[in-house]
Amino acid sequence: MKVVLVSPYDLGRQPFAVAHLAAHFHDHGIDAVCVDLAQQRLTPEHLVGAQFVGVHLGMHTATRLALTVAPRIRKEAPDAHLCAYGLYAPMNEAHLLAAGFDSAVGGEYEEAVLALALGQSVPETNGVARVAYKRPRRDGLPALEKYARLEMPDDTERVVGFAQASRGCKHTCRHCPIVPVYGGVFRVSSLNVVLDDIEQQVAAGAEHISFGDPDFLNGPRHALRIAEALHERWPQLTWDCVIKVEHLLAHREHLPALRDTGLLFVLTAVESVEDDILAIFDKGHTSADFRRVVGLMREVGIGLSPTFVPFSPWTTLSGYLRLLTTLVELDLHGAVSPVQLVIRLLIPEGSWLMKLDDVRARVGDFDGGLLGYPWKHEDPRVDALQKQVCDAVGDGAGFSTVWQMAHAAVGRVAPPLTAAIYEVPSMSEPWYCCAEPTESQLVRL
Ligand code: SF4
Repeated sequence: MKVVLVSPYDLGRQPFAVAHLAAHFHDHGIDAVCVDLAQQRLTPEHLVGAQFVGVHLGMHTATRLALTVAPRIRKEAPDAHLCAYGLYAPMNEAHLLAAGFDSAVGGEYEEAVLALALGQSVPETNGVARVAYKRPRRDGLPALEKYARLEMPDDTERVVGFAQASRGCKHTCRHCPIVPVYGGVFRVSSLNVVLDDIEQQVAAGAEHISFGDPDFLNGPRHALRIAEALHERWPQLTWDCVIKVEHLLAHREHLPALRDTGLLFVLTAVESVEDDILAIFDKGHTSADFRRVVGLMREVGIGLSPTFVPFSPWTTLSGYLRLLTTLVELDLHGAVSPVQLVIRLLIPEGSWLMKLDDVRARVGDFDGGLLGYPWKHEDPRVDALQKQVCDAVGDGAGFSTVWQMAHAAVGRVAPPLTAAIYEVPSMSEPWYCCAEPTESQLVRL
């Protein structure tokens, strides 16, 4: 049986979800053809004779790209079962089926995908029933050095491997795409599976491991065991992960131990410095908590890379300026990727934001092209500023241009910027997982 597994885009990382599903197929005697569209062209040779094609939708941009590539897959493999799998598949099921997919499975999807491919009865698909995590089969994918690098403040680079110690999340932030699927549940991978995967990536040249868990400290004991075992076996390795502000404060006593195992920096979804917006998102932290975390991480000596959703229906021009000013005050303006300053709130199907009357009153009908509920700001100057800064950043502008534009939008001349001192390592492909892609990102992809 010929199986083809396709990743449209995975933020510049070697696609774990394709390699992991390939491992499940391998255990059933099927060596899947793996194609990463971020690195490879999908050719007729890949698809000819395919009986099953799985397309991984781990993020919004991948889903938009999958819709454009589906007709080509259909044409080259007319008899194949075309399956969309991953976090964004169940919430977009109707649109995926209309675009030519035969099925859409998400959550803990491996067994359901296998059953579909093998023509067996499909277990409960879009839930979070436990599945076996296995060592991913990465040999069918492009080499690690082809993917995003870690760029260090001293201008050196490191080859990055990508591991996953858990899926889902125990929190229910309203704007988060994980919540409609996992609903406050997370699943962990065994220590040995995670270490086996890291081992094969170290053998393939990885010098740094980026953990893709939605939140590395959902299970602090599990996280510590993994970090300590990783450091014991590969003391030269550095690593990064995602941890929410609330967890950084609640588990602050573990931070020195994590630093000592090579934790170089933490991505944290701050989203906003406005407490009313944080309350709408149900983020579990305040603006003051964010400031506390900045101080804490500097004290401990772990880099902090905050991410934001600066444009939402509740953004004001003065609030946007307050965000930029806060970044300057905290000396973070050199540590925030410019794309984080232009992100516009995405409201996908199933978003818990739609439980709020205020949100339902502000959005239009679901847009199948956008794969979200469109919204316009009640103050057109905010949307105009978002477009202006987005276009500028798409053309390569940095913080200082955004700083000037934000001041001009409120009729002020921007004061001179103090030079940024604080720097943090960053990926050569910026992180913007659950945001609307900018036009330039879509065109590039
Ligand atoms: S935003 Fe982060 S903490 Fe909140 S539900 Fe999503 S993954 Fe969990």
